[in-house]
Amino acid sequence: MTAMTSSPGASRNDRPLLNRRLAEFGTTIFAEMSALAVRTGAINLGQGFPDTDGPEQVREAAVRALRDGRGNQYPPGPGVPELRAAIAAHQERRYGLAFDPDREVLVTAGATEAIAASLLALVEPGDEVIALEPYYDSYAASIALAGGTRVPVTLRPGDGPRGGAADRRFSLDLDELRAAVTPRTRLLLLNTPHNPTGTVLTREELAEIAKLAVERDLLVVTDEVYEHLVFDEGGHVPLVSFPGMRERTVTIGSAGKTFSFTGWKVGWITATPELVTAVRSAKQFLTFVSSGPFQYAVAEALALPDAYFTSFLDDMRAKRELLASGLTAAGFEVYRPAGTYFITTDVRPLGESDGLAFCRALPERAGVVAIPNAVFYDHRDQGAPFVRFAFCKQTPVLEEAVARLKSL
Ligand code: PMP
Ligand code: GLN
Repeated sequence: MTAMTSSPGASRNDRPLLNRRLAEFGTTIFAEMSALAVRTGAINLGQGFPDTDGPEQVREAAVRALRDGRGNQYPPGPGVPELRAAIAAHQERRYGLAFDPDREVLVTAGATEAIAASLLALVEPGDEVIALEPYYDSYAASIALAGGTRVPVTLRPGDGPRGGAADRRFSLDLDELRAAVTPRTRLLLLNTPHNPTGTVLTREELAEIAKLAVERDLLVVTDEVYEHLVFDEGGHVPLVSFPGMRERTVTIGSAGKTFSFTGWKVGWITATPELVTAVRSAKQFLTFVSSGPFQYAVAEALALPDAYFTSFLDDMRAKRELLASGLTAAGFEVYRPAGTYFITTDVRPLGESDGLAFCRALPERAGVVAIPNAVFYDHRDQGAPFVRFAFCKQTPVLEEAVARLKSL
């Protein structure tokens, strides 16, 4: 940037205003693409937020908390006891995992703060952090804020274990992962179910990752915010459940995805008391606390009967089918996701090669907004032809989007 000392918006003393750690990060793609959707009136299948709110009774629980004066003042630093107890009970009920609600649970301002606080707390400048590429954009920024060095391991597109188009997925090459670990590696930053590819790491892959983490004595931060969006039988398997992982794993969850209240920003970590204490040290200077009344509501949401979680998943499964078959009919190559509410596609069969240019033009061409996966890669060429569509939208909206895309 050129120095313009007279302008407060530019720089002082020939120095750019934005520090070096953040210099590579502009506006997030989600903000850019949602703004484009608003500007053009296009259907927004870009940013991953549902277009309907979560359960009425959960919303009512938030209203009640507000009215009763629960959470209107600073809640306790670790989160309100009701929510910490509900998070621990959820881990026990779903996965048979025991966490002490007083010492092993920390409520955060969404998963985003959990990621940032974990990295700020656990990474020294110069430490290497391995992340699966394409990675959710805040990973890169949080590693940078912590002064860490990002080491991407690329998920590669190909046929799945059974072969054939229906099974196509982005896979982790375990040898590549092993080779990426050096004496400077401090931490593995994982994400399963994986945004944006929809890959769910298999039990076998998780077991190998766990073995590697134990062998090389690595810390693991695992972002499992899509834990309730695994479409295959057997459901989500938390990485922390593998041998040797309990003592080294920070698991991240979020109410935004599971209960369709992304604006409430209620997330959490579960980990050992030592890890929770470390992450809390960073978290207390980021937000200290957040979302007071919503914490009480999310406590009630986590205790909803299994029927809620099942019908949420069934609804998303039907939407996955709708959008996947629509995108296929429109000429995209579709990677049918095993988890999350995103579908990654390859635009090359449409005669395109640059997903970013494709997404910038798509609102004008077809009245739909999508996300170019390239921005989630260090090796941009690897991600160039891939484009992500979100299906957490009402059925008529998806139907209309599919009809529009057929014009391509
Ligand atoms: N991790 C992943 C993989 C995500 O997709 C998202 C956002 N949707 C987040 C973290 C952030 O979650 P939150 O909104 O709870 O901060
Ligand atoms: N996680 C959501 C997505 O992947 C968006 C979150 C955000 O806008 N930062 O689309």
